[in-house]
Amino acid sequence: MEECLFCKIIKGDIPSNKVYEDDEFLACHDINPAAPIHILVIPKKHIKSLADLEKGDEQLMGKIYGIINKIAEEHNFKQDGYRVIVNCGRNGGQEVMHLHFHVLAGKKLGEKIV
Ligand code: 5GP
Ligand code: ZN
Repeated sequence: MEECLFCKIIKGDIPSNKVYEDDEFLACHDINPAAPIHILVIPKKHIKSLADLEKGDEQLMGKIYGIINKIAEEHNFKQDGYRVIVNCGRNGGQEVMHLHFHVLAGKKLGEKIV
């Protein structure tokens, strides 16, 4: 496992406010929330970005939305809705080069670009 920021969070070397964990994923609150609820869902495998997915990662990726819905249910925002964002690469505004899914909820979100 590489020593990037999220790998350190996954290993427990950097503390995080965890909301979900299994063998393949960790989810925690974002340190700098962009909404009342801002959770990061992070695959434990060090995949740099969406653009770096490899053959064989499909199964892992297929599990993400089920986990997000489980979190949404447990944190009571499934009914009101939420937004999932993945920033990819320089133009996508990705800052931490370990694939992660932003889950934003808790208010009617603005700045809708698509
Ligand atoms: P990106 O811009 O790469 O899509 O998103 C990186 C996210 O990681 C940002 O929303 C940022 O606030 C969050 N972040 C950066 N450092 C930490 C940290 O140490 N802990 C947590 N929980 N989130 C972090
Ligand atoms: Zn990593």
